[in-house]
Amino acid sequence: MVEVAQRRARVGVMGGTFDPIHNGHLVAASEVQQKFDLDEVIFVPTGMPWMKSGVTEGEHRYLMTVIATAANPRFTVSRVDIDRKGPTYTIDTLRDIHTARPNADIFFISGADAIAQIVEWKDVEQVWPLAHFVAVTRPGHPLTISGLPEQGVSLLEVPALAISSTDCRSRVSRGFPVWYLVPDGVVQYISKHHLYRSIQ
Ligand code: ATP
Repeated sequence: MVEVAQRRARVGVMGGTFDPIHNGHLVAASEVQQKFDLDEVIFVPTGMPWMKSGVTEGEHRYLMTVIATAANPRFTVSRVDIDRKGPTYTIDTLRDIHTARPNADIFFISGADAIAQIVEWKDVEQVWPLAHFVAVTRPGHPLTISGLPEQGVSLLEVPALAISSTDCRSRVSRGFPVWYLVPDGVVQYISKHHLYRSIQ
């Protein structure tokens, strides 16, 4: 019998506050999934992000992420960061994903702004071996890998969507629409749960 070598699973990890998830996140994940031939992209809403305050309750952000990703069979959502106590550090996220997907090659997806901050992360030297990093273009942020280990980081140009969660929250609080900036189901969720009516 001829033995066929099994291809290792290729799994993307899209971490974010997702407060709320928007089409910029989804396009970035979809582009990386296609370009890097990923079997799955796991969206991981943060628990308590260590660098942000006044973040919406995790359960709302988790459910909006589930709604936003439901139509794509390659997209899944993980609760590892929401369910872990204490502030969220990427090193813990990546270790938990390795446990959940043993033997998979992990690709951590991040925007140009976030990749630039990686060097400030907790235990950064231990983070590099846990994943290949894919940094995607984001309007208003230069994409550079200076200060990052070149072998472990790829840069990818993606369709430019000048959308941020900050702007989405601000628009809702001022009574402006967020239709087509976020998926339809997320617009409905925000409205039903009265999110972002006033901004902290
Ligand atoms: P906020 O405005 O609240 O800071 P955000 O819009 O930056 O939020 P996050 O949830 O913090 O969204 O981002 C998660 C990841 O998605 C980060 O790596 C970020 O760089 C990336 N990202 C966010 N928006 C875009 C976008 N429009 N294009 C490309 N990447 C994006």
